[in-house]
Amino acid sequence: MAELEGLYQEVILDHNKRPRNRREIEGATRHADGYNPLCGDKVTIFLKLDGDRISDVSFLGSGCAISTASASILTETLKGKTRVEAEALFHKFHELVTGKPVEGGSSLGKLAVFSGVSEFPVRVKCATLAWHTLHSALAGDAEVVTTEAPEEAAEGA
Ligand code: ZN
Repeated sequence: MAELEGLYQEVILDHNKRPRNRREIEGATRHADGYNPLCGDKVTIFLKLDGDRISDVSFLGSGCAISTASASILTETLKGKTRVEAEALFHKFHELVTGKPVEGGSSLGKLAVFSGVSEFPVRVKCATLAWHTLHSALAGDAEVVTTEAPEEAAEGA
């Protein structure tokens, strides 16, 4: 198991060092901003929708290794997926990082590297920030997503 954890850590560190799809999408259909005041992670998700399908997805932002790697792997995972598939993956990913049994866990693919996050509750928000932000972008919400209550976020900003 120790080796497996090492391998997972390697994937996360690699995505932190060389984030995939870290760019702005010109003519993005949607975008949303997310902020995790507990850690200082910031992320902007850009989406290009082709009907119900995500034809392109990218991110910009700064934060800890977990939040950056999570955003990077999110973009790799969701390109070409439909909105429904994306929301279903968000649900599974959330269960994974909060330590709940994941139904159909084998479909998580590379997202499985975040399974260790469940042992560090403070890191859960780092791992899910990009996903909450994606959800907001899909929903078309204009407001900044925060992992904390709105009042607290305003104070921290
Ligand atoms: Zn973080």
